Order: sequence, then C-alpha cells, then structure tokens
Amino acid sequence: MTTAINASSAERNPVESDLKWVNSFAALGPDFYTALQPSPLPSPYWVGRSRALARELGLEDHWLESAEALAALTGNQQLPGSRPLASVYSGHQFGAWAGQLGDGRAISLGEIATARGAQEIQLKGAGRTPYSRMGDGRAVLRSSIREFLCSEAMHGLGIPTTRALCVTGSDALVRREELETAAVVTRTAPSFIRFGHFEHFSYSDQHAQLKTLADYVIDRFYPACRDAPQPYAALLEAVSERTAHLMAAWQAVGFCHGVMNTDNMSILGLSIDYGPFQFLDAFDPHHICNHSDTQGRYAYNKQPNTAYWNLFCLGQALLPLIDDQDQALAALESYKSVFPEVLQTRMRAKLGLVEAQPEDAALIESTFKLLASNKVDYTIFWRRLCSFTAQSGHEPVRDLFFDRESFNAWALQYSERIAPVDIGPRADLMLKNNPKFVLRNHLGEEAIRAAKLKDFSGVNTLLTLLQAPFDEHPGHERFADFPPDWAASIEISCSS
Ligand code: AMP
Ligand code: MG
Repeated sequence: MTTAINASSAERNPVESDLKWVNSFAALGPDFYTALQPSPLPSPYWVGRSRALARELGLEDHWLESAEALAALTGNQQLPGSRPLASVYSGHQFGAWAGQLGDGRAISLGEIATARGAQEIQLKGAGRTPYSRMGDGRAVLRSSIREFLCSEAMHGLGIPTTRALCVTGSDALVRREELETAAVVTRTAPSFIRFGHFEHFSYSDQHAQLKTLADYVIDRFYPACRDAPQPYAALLEAVSERTAHLMAAWQAVGFCHGVMNTDNMSILGLSIDYGPFQFLDAFDPHHICNHSDTQGRYAYNKQPNTAYWNLFCLGQALLPLIDDQDQALAALESYKSVFPEVLQTRMRAKLGLVEAQPEDAALIESTFKLLASNKVDYTIFWRRLCSFTAQSGHEPVRDLFFDRESFNAWALQYSERIAPVDIGPRADLMLKNNPKFVLRNHLGEEAIRAAKLKDFSGVNTLLTLLQAPFDEHPGHERFADFPPDWAASIEISCSS
C-alpha cells in the first residue's frame, strides 16, 4: 500500500464543519479502544454518495460536494471535534472462539448529534490499527461498493441496518487474490457495538469493563431495561427480540448474510458488516452465499438458528452480570417465540393475507416447499403474485413453475384463502412487502466492473432503485429481471 499524504497533516489542517460531536464511546476510556488517526489515501475521488442519508444526518448538500468532505471521509483530514479510534472486540468465528479481533480497518470518528439521535461515523478501510492482525487495514473498491449499496438497499426495504453515507476511491493498490484499488466506506449507525464486544470483556475477566459497557448500551439504547428487576437479563431479552425481528426480515426478503460470526452481530439488532452477502435468485433453502463457508454453517435456512447460537454466546458473556444461568436462559426464550411470530406476520403480508387465520402457517410452509422444489426466482415470484387473482388466471405466476400440477393445487388453496378480500387492499399490502428490486449479485457485479473503469453511473442507478425498491421505476425493468446465466458463476468470498 502506497500513500502520498503524511498522516500527521491531519491535525494541522482541520476541516471546517458544524457537526456537533458527542463522542460518548470515546468517553468510556482507553480499555475499550485505541485512539489513532486514519491513514490517508492518495488522490481520492467520489464513487457514490447517499444524499438521502446526508439529509437525515443534517449534513448540508453542498458539504457532501466539497473537497473538504472528500478529504475528511477518506481519512485524509481530521474533522474538528472528532476523536478517531478503533474499538476492541473478540468473537466466535464459524463456531470457534477466535479470541481478540477488533476494528482492524474501521476507524470510528465519534458520534454526531442528529435529529434522529447520536450517530456514529466510521471510515471502513481507513488503514491499519492495533487490531489489524495480518491485514492491511484497507478495503477494496469491489467490497466497498457492495457494502454501500446493500446498506442503503436494506434501509429501503425497511430492514434494520447500519447505513452508508458514501464510498471514496483511490488508485492506491491493495493485494487480495489479485491487485485491486483501495476504497473507504463511510458508514453510520447509532452504535457499531457487537456481541463480540461483550465477549471480549467477559472472557478476558474484565468484569468491571463488561458492566461499564452493558450500562452504556442500556442507558443509550435500551433505557427501559434499567427499571427491570435484573437489567442485564432484560438487556439480553431485548437484544434477543430485536435479533428475532432482524432474522424474520432477512428470511422473508431472501437475504443471506454469509458471515454470521458473533463479531458481526449488532447489539442493536442491525444488519452489519456486509461481506459475501447475497439476495437469493432461485429459491434454495440450503443456499450458501459465502464461497469460504465450505460447511454451509451460514446457509440461508441456518440463519435463524445461528442467530440463536450467537445470542447464547452473548448470554454466556453476560453471565458475570446476570449471575443466574436460568435467568439468562429465560431471557433467550423470547427469541424462540418472537422469531416465528414475526416471520409469519411478514410472510402473511407477502401473501396478501390481510387478516390472520390459523391455517396460515400451513399455507406459508407449502409455499416455501413449492418454491424450493421448482427453484423459482424468489423476488420475481413475490412481485408477480401481487397481481394474482383467482378469477383472471395467473399465467405470469404459473410460468415460473415447471411442476404445473403442484402449482395448480397450491393456486387453488391460495385462491380459496384470498377469496373474501378484494384485490385492492391485498395488492396494496403485497406491493409494500414484495420489492421489485433487490441487490442481486450480478447487478452489483456490473456496477463494480464499470466503477473499476471509473464509470460510477451504475452505482448511482442502483442506489436510486434500491433506495425505493417497492416503486415501479418505469424504464428500469432489466434491473428487476431474472439473473443472466453468468450470475451463477459469481463467487463471493470473505476476501474484501
Ligand atoms: P470481517 O470478516 O470482515 O467481519 O472481519 C473479521 C475481522 O478481521 C475484523 O476484526 C476485521 O477488522 C478484520 N479484518 C478484515 N479485513 C481486514 C483487513 N484488510 N485489514 C485489517 N483487518 C481486517
Ligand atoms: Mg466484521
């Protein structure tokens, strides 16, 4: 990695801005992080910007156009009032205790006050930290574009996620399987604290710090837990509930995360750390999106159980504060009841079942089975189903199935179920729950190939579509179409 700008220039040339820095994580003290400056990248350029997020953060439009913003968000100049740091965490990776990890390439600038509460700003790919281990502290353009687009896509889908403000690129080279160029994603969230942060302090017997961290999370994000008889068990229960909501949202939309290690699990129940993720094309419950996941530990249909396994790790990490194993186990129980309930609510909405009925679970189950046995395109099926009526035939949906007999039997069952409700309210509900556009691998790939040649129009087009994925966007049908044959050969690994 070559860099042309001296890191110490950062303090000498502060960038003017009226951001109001809170820096509450920094106030926890040095046991939780290492204070350090990002390592600059030479001659950065804009790759993509989410103006929607900028507005939510209260950033002026013209600021996000400025050379100052470009420099600051690449880590080349310090924003006055920010307190850059890399936090320490540990985690279980692929089922095994991995020991200390930490922000190996993400540098947090601190939190800014916004109308939606304090938001932490992180520069991912901003250089080495004490937690980089063998890594170079950088992120490549390819994975940065994927994280940027997927963050904003998830938000557009209404799924809890960390956000991404922008990607800046540089011609500086980074070695992965081949030489690639470096980029920085500026991402934001109320907090980037992971299950792994708790595991870190628990397993290193730093129980005072464990308590400080838990109190910080309760006070800022789960204030109701403070009044519970056992606040830390209440915290575990609240996190279990949020995680259950998140898993239901992922399963319903057909999202595979790919690396559900405990260091990639947000304590706020946000989707976090987009790596080898994938939105399903053809529905295959056993789909593995991470080329490095040879055992299929994080296959699509294993995600809900994996989340529970990860919550169990969090529960174990919190035991020094809860003190009563049964109470911790009881707190985890909420996951087991909330997840299926929320998933069913989401699937009912996708099916357009306005009111719940006892046999809905069986209908949902038979829908999943039929989609799997016919390997039907998951997104297209649901979107086409929005126009299904029992009276007018349903060729566009039927055409997706090679086993017509099974489809006809299912369609009969479905027609009877939806019969009492007019198409109007049903279609309204369905069109808000079945996106037309998702970030399929091949779409990301096309935008990345162009971006490598400095054509960022594909990134911008996708951003516009994915920020409003339930809208029709006439003229952009090809982005809602089946994947081309070459999509099946795209291999996404942890390398990023
Ligand atoms: P991930 O699989 O991306 O969630 O990363 C797992 C751990 O490896 C985290 O502690 C990351 O900060 C660290 N890491 C990943 N890539 C790099 C890199 N290029 N340089 C330094 N640390 C990295
Ligand atoms: Mg990670």
